[in-house]
Amino acid sequence: MKQLFTENEQLKSEFKQLFGSPQKIVLTAHQNPDGDAYGSIFSLYHVLKNLGHQVYAISPTSHADYIAWMPGVNEVINFEDSLENGRAKRLIKEANVIFCLDFSALDRAKDMHTPIKESKAVKVLIDHHQQPEGFADYVYWDEKAAATCELIFCLLEDLDWLGALDKDGATCLYTGILTDTGSFKFDSTTKRVHRIAGELIDKGINPNQINRRLFDQNSFDRLRFMGYALGEKLTYLPEYRTALFSFTEEEQNKFNLKKGDTEGLVNYGLSIAGAVMSAIFIEKETMVKVSFRSVDDFSVAELSRNHFNGGGHKNAAGGRSTLGLEATVEKFLSLLPEHKEELLKQP
Ligand code: 5GP
Ligand code: MN
Repeated sequence: MKQLFTENEQLKSEFKQLFGSPQKIVLTAHQNPDGDAYGSIFSLYHVLKNLGHQVYAISPTSHADYIAWMPGVNEVINFEDSLENGRAKRLIKEANVIFCLDFSALDRAKDMHTPIKESKAVKVLIDHHQQPEGFADYVYWDEKAAATCELIFCLLEDLDWLGALDKDGATCLYTGILTDTGSFKFDSTTKRVHRIAGELIDKGINPNQINRRLFDQNSFDRLRFMGYALGEKLTYLPEYRTALFSFTEEEQNKFNLKKGDTEGLVNYGLSIAGAVMSAIFIEKETMVKVSFRSVDDFSVAELSRNHFNGGGHKNAAGGRSTLGLEATVEKFLSLLPEHKEELLKQP
């Protein structure tokens, strides 16, 4: 399913007209931004600045260290920072245009959802998550896209704006595509994805450096934590072809875990031969954060939507629970028998 406003000539020319004069623009993405969320914000940040607009990047929360090097990050306004919150609210209120990137449900913008909803700005949604909410004026959405950054490249192509994409913007787009495809590995990695990656290389990016900045920046504590997680915490249930991990706050403190340090761990469960689903449960101050990954036709987005207040994509989804860590894991285990047939029938 997709909805691309540029396929409608009238909407496309209306949109281009809107950007024909300098606009006050706010760019935002989902809370706890990942490579695709920041890649989306900062690629457009560079493009729209190059086109002569006044642009502000506002994140609903702070970001993890592994994306802190991205070009433009120093300009980000953290909505949750009490020193910046007033300015952020004012900018959202005064904006002419707000871009909502890499999320489709307003609650993914955490406390920013109300100011966004109440702002009179024209809203533009660019995203690839399932089941978008209908809050935007212009929608550029395709659930089959590998990354929002892939869609942004296509949108720039549709609008003839690729000339405004410089090396910094291209670096941001490549980062989003790289992280959301699991380094060009997931099922969503199409010919188009590879073509776009090639075009970004033509813009002068350095893929090796981007890879090292993203993936080779482990702290010693984090690597030790990974050893502990794989050696002592990973459970595999072959009867359900399901792997799972869970971590208390105490365990996270013991290894000095920082934001983003559990990112990617859930994928290790899925690398067990025969595994169809992997789950991770992380105890936070007020809730349990849940992440799911799957292969082939088993939909973790559906599982997360139906049972863990979440959603996402067929093969990568997340959610949360207020039941407490142990009870959340129990709930997950109790759901496995009803999904057994579906889990076992995957190739
Ligand atoms: P992750 O497990 O990496 O946090 O998220 C995997 C995917 O699920 C991402 O595309 C993310 O946007 C989505 N996702 C994660 N947490 C939530 C959530 O609480 N609600 C919804 N609707 N989607 C989520
Ligand atoms: Mn994404």
